[in-house]
Amino acid sequence: MHIGFLGLGNMGGPMARNLLKAGHSLTVFDPFPQAVAALVEAGASAADSPAAVAKARVEVIITMLPTAEHVKQVYRGKDGLLANIGPGVLLIDSSTIDPLSTREVAKYALAQGNPMLDAPVSGGTGGAAAGTLTFMVGGPDSVFDQALPILSAMGKNIVHCGAAGNGQVAKIANNMLLGISMVGVAEAMALGVALGMEAKVLAGIINTSSGRCWSSEVNNPFPGVLENAPASRGYSGGFGSDLMLKDLGLATEAARHARQPVALGAVAQQLYQTFSLQGHGGLDFSAIINLFRGEA
Ligand code: NAD
Repeated sequence: MHIGFLGLGNMGGPMARNLLKAGHSLTVFDPFPQAVAALVEAGASAADSPAAVAKARVEVIITMLPTAEHVKQVYRGKDGLLANIGPGVLLIDSSTIDPLSTREVAKYALAQGNPMLDAPVSGGTGGAAAGTLTFMVGGPDSVFDQALPILSAMGKNIVHCGAAGNGQVAKIANNMLLGISMVGVAEAMALGVALGMEAKVLAGIINTSSGRCWSSEVNNPFPGVLENAPASRGYSGGFGSDLMLKDLGLATEAARHARQPVALGAVAQQLYQTFSLQGHGGLDFSAIINLFRGEA
């Protein structure tokens, strides 16, 4: 299948490579020339704008962009995708953005005859490289079925979450809970150690008791508890605090539109904002424990 791919960053680059490995032909665009050059070396063709991708007779277009502003511009801008594709081209946006923007773009796409799915991912850059991402997909049943073989080349769990926008809803609800649980684990670990407990023993108790969760068991924020966790290598790699801040912002903003209180999500957002302001946004999000240990 001939696929257009826009946004060849930390996630999009390895995702596009997996499509090439699965035998698809790719026409790619990214404003960052080195990102395009790396994909061309792997076998893709380069385009010099979103419009050029749209005109390259692609059957499917996938986007993996930083924010909703980028997505709106790439799809709806004057030289964007929608103004330049023919009807029937399937559109898949895997960026993490707010559900309202997703639904707006999908509505415009459908009105001109282009089915569109939101398909944000979890699994990070490791999952993108290994082709083991989880895709949370929003859009009509028949369009989901059409996209399944393509998404399967990049991911392991492909979950249909319902109508347009619901992929983003699933993604931001999960990540809001992740942010909250990480703050909770950080606070509990910092308290226990401050009161005299050994961090590994405390983590062992939590992980065999009712406080156990992914943030305590797989990505424990206390250095030395888990040898392979970012906390034990200076909080490098992993999921950046600024990306968590972005997702908490999406959740609280979507909640405001829905008039739905998200008290703990808002607290977690403020803590990550403080942490980012202090210059630590590039550290893994488990580094938030340093706020509680007085080390930030
Ligand atoms: P990134 O910043 O590494 O990559 C984004 C790419 O988009 C860059 O190469 C940039 O040059 C390109 N871009 C910007 N404007 C463009 C345009 N007009 N047309 C084409 N390309 C354009 O970001 P990333 O880490 O790859 O994340 C992409 C999306 O995936 C974000 O929405 C992020 O929240 C989400 N996400 C990231 C992770 C992660 O661990 N990095 C995990 C899950 C989801």
